[in-house]
Amino acid sequence: MGWKIGIPRALFYYTYFPLWTTFFQALGVEVVVSPPTNKAILDQGTKSVVDETCLPVKVFFGHAATFTNKNVDFLFVPRLISVEKKAYICPKFMGLPDMLSASKIKHPPLIKPVVNKVKSEQDTHFLWDCASPFTGKWLKIKKAWHDAEQEQRNYEQKLIRKYLDITDDRKLNILLLGHDYNLYDHYVNMGLWQKLQDLDCTVFTPAQFSKEERDSQLRKFPKSIFWTYGRNLLGAVYSFMQRPGKKGVIVLSSFGCGIDSFIDNLIIRRLVEQKIPYLNVILDEHTGEGGLVTRLEAFIDIIRWRRDYHQNYVSSYGQYVGCCKGNVGVHGTKCDCTTSSYKR
Ligand code: SF4
Repeated sequence: MGWKIGIPRALFYYTYFPLWTTFFQALGVEVVVSPPTNKAILDQGTKSVVDETCLPVKVFFGHAATFTNKNVDFLFVPRLISVEKKAYICPKFMGLPDMLSASKIKHPPLIKPVVNKVKSEQDTHFLWDCASPFTGKWLKIKKAWHDAEQEQRNYEQKLIRKYLDITDDRKLNILLLGHDYNLYDHYVNMGLWQKLQDLDCTVFTPAQFSKEERDSQLRKFPKSIFWTYGRNLLGAVYSFMQRPGKKGVIVLSSFGCGIDSFIDNLIIRRLVEQKIPYLNVILDEHTGEGGLVTRLEAFIDIIRWRRDYHQNYVSSYGQYVGCCKGNVGVHGTKCDCTTSSYKR
């Protein structure tokens, strides 16, 4: 009978699933992924950790609990410290295996390799910790890792190519900003993506801008950003701001996330400076779908009115963004509107 490894469909699974699944499969290990998030998983996760924990970690615990009675030999829970030079991941990722071991969830034995790219020799230890329960053949491990990295690159390239394919300046372009595990978990974000498409918007995410582009944009920022997640988002915002077409940004935050509380503020300041409309949605386990739909529709309507009718209004961030009677408009052009009576 072959080995089986479980991977919770949560947190960095959404970023690295091509890498991890290809690697274990190339070692001859069957990969079992937990089902997509549902109410039972979220409820279980919420019960398993203290109330103050951020929503994505609660979701992770719910997914880990699905392996309690599953026939898997190991559970893969890497200890992520840093995935690139000079930048770090949120501290909760570092403590994830310990938090899981200290919880009441009965889980299979953990495979918990450390990922710390700040240290150069990291890959060797990481690979050995991942693969040694299944094989001792170093060549086989290296080959599996090589294939896995290639698969990850292909996946990332596909996302970037998709951006080029769907770019349409005539449609309303919405950049959806957030952690991958909020953007791609459609139960957690309440189908936000589909709702935007139903409203005839084109949706973009940070992963659709290449890392090189995001990094080069970040050089405009006066200070180096400490968190990988923050770097991705800020770089994507700068790139998106330069693209042509009508646009808006939705900042999707998790309740209880320390990093969001810093980074969202930096992003929103940039958007206000550039007079780009934004909507900040904070997700928690109590968020109601009706409230989200109302806010979303209002946000999209306002951007469209501004585009189609030159309506005057005071935006949600308190600045005049309309065009009327010769006032300078949003993009620095004189407006030919003669119908409005709005005066500053
Ligand atoms: S980055 Fe924020 S949302 Fe993600 S695990 Fe850390 S605290 Fe939670």
